[in-house]
Amino acid sequence: MEKSDLHSALKKYFGFSKFKGLQEDVVESILSGNNTFVIMPTGGGKSLCYQLPALMQEGTAIVVSPLIALMKNQVDAIRGVSNEEGIAHVLNSSLNKTEIKRVKEDIVNGVTKLLYVAPESLTKEENVEFLRSVKISFMAIDEAHCISEWGHDFRPEYRNLRHIISRIGDNIPIIGLTATATPKVQEDIIKNLGITGARTFKASFNRPNLYYEVRPKTKNVDADIIRFIKQNAGKSGIVYCLSRKRVEELAQVLQVNGINAVPYHAGLDAKSRSSFQDKFLMEEVDVVVATIAFGMGIDKPDVRFVIHHDIPKSIESYYQETGRAGRDGGEGHCLAYYSYKDIEKLEKFMSGKPVAEQEIGHALLQEVVAFAETSISRRKFILHYFGEEFDNETGEGGDMDDNIRHPKKKHEAQDDVVV
Ligand code: ADP
Ligand code: MG
Repeated sequence: MEKSDLHSALKKYFGFSKFKGLQEDVVESILSGNNTFVIMPTGGGKSLCYQLPALMQEGTAIVVSPLIALMKNQVDAIRGVSNEEGIAHVLNSSLNKTEIKRVKEDIVNGVTKLLYVAPESLTKEENVEFLRSVKISFMAIDEAHCISEWGHDFRPEYRNLRHIISRIGDNIPIIGLTATATPKVQEDIIKNLGITGARTFKASFNRPNLYYEVRPKTKNVDADIIRFIKQNAGKSGIVYCLSRKRVEELAQVLQVNGINAVPYHAGLDAKSRSSFQDKFLMEEVDVVVATIAFGMGIDKPDVRFVIHHDIPKSIESYYQETGRAGRDGGEGHCLAYYSYKDIEKLEKFMSGKPVAEQEIGHALLQEVVAFAETSISRRKFILHYFGEEFDNETGEGGDMDDNIRHPKKKHEAQDDVVV
């Protein structure tokens, strides 16, 4: 494959003139039939890594993805660039007989290049039988961290994938993709998918434009948040809280104080949720106070601050949530409030869970404690957690955190954590 062919295909199917980061290398690896492992932060452009080779190759690529909504978005996007509706399909349990027949015909006729399936649908015997009988170009496992109990979104169905892939065909190349960069999760993925020796592509997780700050959480936290938001008047921001109740209360407190804020959590009806989300995207409101239900798939490039009213349960969650700030490369202030009491609260939530899960949860929380209490570069800490070396003297964004800008004296640092 000539380099110019890849670029013209990129232009033809996506209208882009340049690859982003490691995309071109990944695409080449997949086109050469290698098992391939891709680790890139959210927004890094992972979808294109498998979509482009799928469109360029004979046969159908099967894409496993955990969320039906995300699959539908991707299918719509692919159909949008092609005049052929059958080029991408979703196979799931909501299809009726006629729809299933249509999908299968398109695959058999070689029209369908991308078939999105949820892991539950892939386990169905009739689907396995069908897929065995057609030409498969490769299998892409998106959000591959769902395989690992150490990831933030473990899904047991993902554990069966290797077995099912073997049943569908002998030499189908496997592509794993994830935005979770911890070495433990990576090991799990490689082991579970049986792709030792896969060509691995890992992008840097450094977000040099984000400023990281942790403040001790006192009883004045609400007032402190109000002050911060007023100092950043007119800018878009997200405030994360642990509980729906706290989301409602804080949203009200902000409103009463003249801040244009809305609540967002999974307990609201679908209509309010989508209306609040739209208002945020359209800049009719400045601030969304939300549980972690808010954010998946939200692509607002100019979120200027992300506040954690409550500390998250892992460094990955913190990284994902703060990562919604400054997507456009502009300013992004990440402010987290921390008290050890909140850690104890999170520990308590886990106490009803199976022991193995508790142990993992505890280990993840201890990293959060270490992060909150550290006096070294926060960026260095985060990147080290993700298995990446970072020198804050020379690295990009090396001075963008509270510990580097305002180093604490030792005794102050200790006082801070006992609140
Ligand atoms: P990820 O899955 O890694 O979170 P996505 O695949 O959703 O990322 O891509 C994030 C955004 O980047 C999308 O809006 C996509 O259209 C855009 N994008 C991907 N590749 C390119 C490229 N080569 N040039 C410009 N934009 C790109
Ligand atoms: Mg993705």
